[in-house]
Amino acid sequence: MADGEDFDTDFAPCPRCSGWGHIDCHCGGDLCVCDNYGERDCPLCHGEGEITEEQHARWTEAKRQHDADFAAARAAYEKEQSDG
Ligand SMILES: [Zn+2]
Ligand SMILES: [Zn+2]
Repeated sequence: MADGEDFDTDFAPCPRCSGWGHIDCHCGGDLCVCDNYGERDCPLCHGEGEITEEQHARWTEAKRQHDADFAAARAAYEKEQSDG
């Protein structure tokens, strides 16, 4: 037992970087112009590769919302197109 560390926080693999701890930089890896050599620390887990269940739930909810907004915008755009 190590120093009675309280470890009842559950962790989940980071969904942003799939647990790698880093993601492609904004330049996409080729011809990187941001001095990150194609990679940068994951902004969600900060290179840890995992986040707390709470963070995971928040991120999932935010992504769901984002996806819903995107789908709505796309549907509106397509409707506009088909309506002429
Ligand atoms: Zn870059
Ligand atoms: Zn991550």
